[in-house]
Amino acid sequence: MPMTTLVIATRNAHKVEEIRAILSDRFHYLTLQDFPAAPAVIEDAPTFAGNASKKAVQLAHWLAKSPIADAQLPVRSPLFVLADDSGLEVDALNGAPGVYSARFALLDTKQEGNAPDADNNAKLLRLLRDVPSEKRTARFRCVLALTPVLKSPVENASPVCAADEFELQTELFDGTCEGRIGFAPGGKGGFGYDPLFIPTGYAQSFAELGEATKNQLSHRAKALTALRDRSILLSRT
Ligand code: IMP
Repeated sequence: MPMTTLVIATRNAHKVEEIRAILSDRFHYLTLQDFPAAPAVIEDAPTFAGNASKKAVQLAHWLAKSPIADAQLPVRSPLFVLADDSGLEVDALNGAPGVYSARFALLDTKQEGNAPDADNNAKLLRLLRDVPSEKRTARFRCVLALTPVLKSPVENASPVCAADEFELQTELFDGTCEGRIGFAPGGKGGFGYDPLFIPTGYAQSFAELGEATKNQLSHRAKALTALRDRSILLSRT
C-alpha cells in the first residue's frame, strides 16, 4: 500500500518540525511551502477547532481541484490535509490571548498579520507584572484538523443537506499542556511563548527544556499522539 501523504497546512517551520518529529517517518510530508499558490486562509473563527477546520477544509478543496497541486502530489498515495491551530490561555487574563495568540501585541492596533514573538511575550509580561507566581497558571492548547482530499466529492448530494463533504469528513484531535508563565523569558529554543511557559512539574521553560522534552509533554504532542494511531490513515487507499 502506498504511504499516506500529509499536507501540513502551515508555513510555520517550527510547527512542521514538531509535527514531523512526533509523527516520524510513517507518512510522506508536504507543507504549504511546497504550494506557494495555495490561497491564504483568514483565521477568524472564535475557537481553535473552528480555525483548524477552516484551514484544513479550504486547503483540501484547493488540492482537490488545482492542476498545479496535482502535478506535485505523489500518484496513488492516500492524501490528507493536517491543520494545527493552537495558542496560550492564561487564567489571570480570562483565557487570553487564546485564538489571538499569534497577533496578541497587535490586537489594539489596525495592523494586519501576526506580531513578532518578542512583542507578544513583552505584552504578556507587562499584563502579568503584578500577578504572583501562584496565579500565573496557563495552558497551551492545540486542535488538529485532519481532512481527506476527496477527488470526487458528492457535492450537496441531497437538496435538504447542503453540508460540505470535506467538512463532514474532517476529524479533530486536541491536546493541552498545563503550566505557568514565568517572570522573564528563559532559553533560546522553540518559538512563540516557549521562553515564558514553564510546564507543570518543571522549573524551566519550554525554550530551556529543548525540543525532545517539549515533544513529549506539549499540547501538540498530545493531539498528534491521538491522531498518530488513527488506522484510517494507514488503511485508506
Ligand atoms: P496559529 O499559527 O494561528 O495556530 O498561532 C499559534 C500561536 O500560538 C503562535 O504564533 C504562538 O504565538 C502560539 N503557540 C502555539 N503553539 C505554541 C508552542 O508550542 N509554543 C509557543 N507558542 C505557541
